[in-house]
Amino acid sequence: MSDKKKHSTFHTPLPTFYKGFSSLAIHAGQHPDPMYAHLTPIYASSTYVYDEAEQGMRRFSGQEPGYIYSRWGNPTMNEAEEKIAAMETWKIEREGKPLEAKAILHASGMAAISSLFLATLKKGDKILTHYSLYSGTQDFMKTLLDPLEVEPIIVDLRDLSIAEKCLKEDPAIRMIYLETPANPTLQCVDLEALSALAKQYGKITACDNTFATPYLQQPFKYGIDFVLHSTTKFLNGHGTAIGGVLVGTDIEFMKTRATKTHRLLGGNSNAFEAFLLINGMKTLEVRMQRHCENAMQVAKFLVEHPAIEKVNYNGLSTHPDFAVSQKQMSHPGAMMSFELKDGFEAGVRFMNKLQLCTRTVSLGTCDTLLSHPASMSHSSVPRDQRIEYGITDGLIRLSVGMENIEDILEDFSQALS
Ligand SMILES: *Cc1c(COP(=O)(O)O)cnc(C)c1O
Repeated sequence: MSDKKKHSTFHTPLPTFYKGFSSLAIHAGQHPDPMYAHLTPIYASSTYVYDEAEQGMRRFSGQEPGYIYSRWGNPTMNEAEEKIAAMETWKIEREGKPLEAKAILHASGMAAISSLFLATLKKGDKILTHYSLYSGTQDFMKTLLDPLEVEPIIVDLRDLSIAEKCLKEDPAIRMIYLETPANPTLQCVDLEALSALAKQYGKITACDNTFATPYLQQPFKYGIDFVLHSTTKFLNGHGTAIGGVLVGTDIEFMKTRATKTHRLLGGNSNAFEAFLLINGMKTLEVRMQRHCENAMQVAKFLVEHPAIEKVNYNGLSTHPDFAVSQKQMSHPGAMMSFELKDGFEAGVRFMNKLQLCTRTVSLGTCDTLLSHPASMSHSSVPRDQRIEYGITDGLIRLSVGMENIEDILEDFSQALS
């Protein structure tokens, strides 16, 4: 068989083709390359050419599919988008048919979140949300949505009666915005129950799925309308690029209003970072399995250690949201936070003594990362509000890495001694 023949038989199966998650993560979204490259190349090109002027006209009018301008779409970015949409809908059926979703890759998690809010909300609308949220999302609501007269109602959405009371009393609520497990207390909200309530009251729902990844939790399974990720974290997995994605199952809305918003805001990704993301995502399953196994052992170690006051890990039966987490996640994940008995000072001493684990913000990389939310990621949240949310002065957040567990535990032991 000639190469040409072989190439012409190469096809991209539908997501339903794959029995296993890794097969899907490795192959979904890859299209045959006209130059026969094995991997989708980094298409570093701002524009795309036309064979004749009429072709340009047809592409602009949508009569002919094809790339036009890389802020609008790019072949490398497209593979990442199709892979994520496939992972988030894998094995989910709606009315007897495989669920479809469209993903739009953004420059960052915050760019995807901006697109979502600006595409769906207008003056006078309100967002019903839980109080333990990524600090940038909270800051966005306060700094940018408030002047547009879009107001957040921040409550404890783990209490469904509070959620229902808000929906009943305030018809201006347009969206329920969720993050589960949430940063950094690992609080979990019930996706199925909140999505059902939202449907009952005619509201839209969105879920930031960054901590869980589609390997551990698929919000679309519970009827959530939009899923967001900071792909910077576990999806990329190696800490090599900033990125974000907005995924939706209302294909018409995603192709029109969401696409328009993304194009006008200009928060597009780029071919190089999309390439890094694609290759990171191929190993999501094996990475998450290792992250998760290690996390469970680290949590058990910390709970039993005499220097530790408290461990927040949704995989421990003592965590208040253990049951919800068990219900909607295939594993509780690799994020946790903890507090030392001697508070802030002891926390700083412990962090400074670490030899293997890394002192940094962010999460989801191969190495184990530790940060201090009160002085780092949540320093923009006022202290009393922060403490009310469970982010105490001495809290340390941990993203458990993929090192060998004996080395992680050894480093913790020596740093706690
Ligand atoms: C990091 C993060 C974001 C923001 O993403 P960026 O890629 O940094 O813009 C949003 N949500 C969660 C849960 C995050 O961890």
